[in-house]
Amino acid sequence: MTSGAALKLVGEPEDIVSQSDYIAYSKAVHDYSPAIKKLLDLSEDYVPGAERAFKAGHPAVWCQGFNYQPALLYALGVTPVAYSEMGRYSSKEDMLIAEDIYQFPVESCSMVKCTIAQWHKRLNTGTINKLLGNASSCEPFNLAFEIMRKQGYDVFNNEVSYRPPAVEGERLEQLVDFTIEQILDLAEWLTGKREVDESRLDLEIKRKNRLLIKLRRVLELRRTHPFYMKTLAIILTSNVGLNNYFGKPQAYEEAIDELLLELEKEPVNEKDLKTVIPLVWAGGTGQEFGVYEAIDQAGGALLGLRSAPFKSYREDIPPIEALARFIYDNSAAGAGVYARHVIDAEVERLKARGIILYGYIGCSFASVDREMWRRYFHQKGIACINLEGSFQTGAPTGQVLTRIKAFVEMLAA
Ligand code: SF4
Repeated sequence: MTSGAALKLVGEPEDIVSQSDYIAYSKAVHDYSPAIKKLLDLSEDYVPGAERAFKAGHPAVWCQGFNYQPALLYALGVTPVAYSEMGRYSSKEDMLIAEDIYQFPVESCSMVKCTIAQWHKRLNTGTINKLLGNASSCEPFNLAFEIMRKQGYDVFNNEVSYRPPAVEGERLEQLVDFTIEQILDLAEWLTGKREVDESRLDLEIKRKNRLLIKLRRVLELRRTHPFYMKTLAIILTSNVGLNNYFGKPQAYEEAIDELLLELEKEPVNEKDLKTVIPLVWAGGTGQEFGVYEAIDQAGGALLGLRSAPFKSYREDIPPIEALARFIYDNSAAGAGVYARHVIDAEVERLKARGIILYGYIGCSFASVDREMWRRYFHQKGIACINLEGSFQTGAPTGQVLTRIKAFVEMLAA
């Protein structure tokens, strides 16, 4: 797709063929920024690159690809491949595979259906065959892991890690100890040894903390350069790349360093600062890239994220313990209130005009959180829009795009 054709994306969803079109378009839009183009290249090659490397002998595992998993896996010499990124290759055919072959009800979450169909298509192809689950995710995904185990994948699904809001003291210490054991079990599943090289893990924790600081700086510089990095590019860089480095830690860090240099030398455009509508994104990283395009075209700037890199790993304790404590001290510890605190802080930091709450059709779990957040922020006088979309490729519905456009235009007025 050429950049000229892509300008018709919003309002004409039939023009969109694939998520690759959006990435190609985003590269064309950012032709002034070698760093952003490199980050988009890394995103584009994440899954194919990991599968190529696996076939060439480098270990890799399908996993959530966020929270503590990437630091641990890299320390064990294994590439973490976020299975959520497979949604980009899914289509309506994938929905049918999940429904017809695996009997998933039509109304089930499209993310799970896409993922299971992608794993199905890879059966007996010699690609990555280990699945690292997380029982805290949701029941539909737990079901998917069990089905794939029966199909021949090697599955490790760790126990639920959840910290209710009031849990402190001895109970919290028990959770941390329990999680350390789980981490060692995971190491044994991956390497055959119930141990982790602490010096390698320490290096990975330091790399993560360094990148968290750099991404905070990127987000800070975006306040004065709100339109330099468009919505799709920052979502992929932050919500995906910061978690797992797209499977290529060194290349990712080099691209972030380059981006910082670009942002630091870019002059501030006072007109942009007067017209910008700062928004906070409080959803998962969907594959409906047209939603991000709609935000840009309506004049919004997605400057804050629910997954803001606000918290670093502790470096004053043994590294395995640092992983376990990070799980329970972070916004992903379970209760929706933890994530709400992050959104609240982002809204305050940016003086945001609105919040975009986004989730997938068929997800009863996240929709409850989103509704609670919507009510909370409405009571505080912050405008919110609560959107539901699908996970497989293709254009977002015209209704979703119209609602986003109307929301951003309302904030502008
Ligand atoms: S969107 Fe909801 S149902 Fe779907 S995988 Fe995520 S938590 Fe599970």
